[in-house]
Amino acid sequence: MRILVTGGAGFIGSALVRQLVAETDAEVVNVDALTYAGNLDSLGKALDDPRHHFERVDVCDSGGVKRLFEQYRPDAVMHLAAESHVDRSIDGPADFIRTNITGTFCLLEATLAYWRSLDDDAKGRFRFLHISTDEVFGSLGAEGFFTETTPYSPNSPYSASKASSDHLVRAWHHTYGLPTLITNCSNNYGPYQFPEKLIPVMILNALAGKPLPIYGKGDNVRDWLYVDDHARALRLVLEKGEPGETYNVGGHNEKTNLEVVHAICALLDELATDSPHRPHESLITSVTDRPGHDRRYAIDASKIGRELGWTPTETFETGLRRTVEWYLANTGWCERVSSGAYRDRLGLKREHQ
Ligand code: NAD
Repeated sequence: MRILVTGGAGFIGSALVRQLVAETDAEVVNVDALTYAGNLDSLGKALDDPRHHFERVDVCDSGGVKRLFEQYRPDAVMHLAAESHVDRSIDGPADFIRTNITGTFCLLEATLAYWRSLDDDAKGRFRFLHISTDEVFGSLGAEGFFTETTPYSPNSPYSASKASSDHLVRAWHHTYGLPTLITNCSNNYGPYQFPEKLIPVMILNALAGKPLPIYGKGDNVRDWLYVDDHARALRLVLEKGEPGETYNVGGHNEKTNLEVVHAICALLDELATDSPHRPHESLITSVTDRPGHDRRYAIDASKIGRELGWTPTETFETGLRRTVEWYLANTGWCERVSSGAYRDRLGLKREHQ
């Protein structure tokens, strides 16, 4: 099996590629433009594996994407490439519209042309899995969960762009018969996450003795899933999911942001024994809330459990402990990201600084 993975140098994509290379016989064509969020260091041993082919291609480059289909003739596409950070989407939505909407459109067009060229057998086996977020559903009150039939109600430029891409993928199935699947997942956390997202920001700031910025009262609720559990869910949906269907993925780990930060501080107090900043929770600082900040997300993941047999292996407590341990043991990766040195490998500009 040959799988074309877009965004495979990002946080979730790299976890997926590492898993595919380590746990399956699949060949992986890793297609990534290497924006500030793409980091080849995150691929670990998979980077140099003969079953891993890295291609620096922008998904908005129709010609480049078409060339990849002709060259590699994949059996499946897993589409993770995206602009993914909500705060950046508020400051500059254009890149989100370009990559998440136009990029998904270009990829769908190239996939459809390629799929139509296949013989009937190969056509029947082919799959296009689009990886999306629960943020497309908007915000919940104190009760209830997002299901696969919850109406879309995106509130940020990021979630609106992801919602648009979900609709395109759905339409390419219903209009052209392309065998697409969609997953909508809750917040991921784990090793190799870029330090602009809540959990790595808090770990690295705490270790550096910097303030731990919490939006407003810290009472926004998110549902957390360990990244390797997400990658396993994606593999299962690709293998056993029904084309045209959507699957929600989540860990049943609802936490307020303040609870998450307290849990990180407690773990650092225990594990970072030489940290001069203990107790780390003294660093918690409230900052002005994000505009349009969704109050609560919570996923009902019973469909993927019932129909495909997926269950997460990590609880929030075990997954967070693994994550904090990983950041403590991988200060080299963190330093290369913080300094921008991770961009040097391909002579790329240290642009996120
Ligand atoms: P990420 O920002 O860490 O990685 C995105 C990757 O896409 C990077 O490697 C980047 O270089 C690449 N990329 C960006 N623009 C590109 C383009 N135009 N062409 C090719 N590559 C490009 O994101 P992530 O957290 O790994 O998220 C991956 C996917 O999962 C996204 O589609 C996101 O919407 C979705 N998702 C994320 C979460 C989460 O909590 N992180 C939750 C649910 C769904």
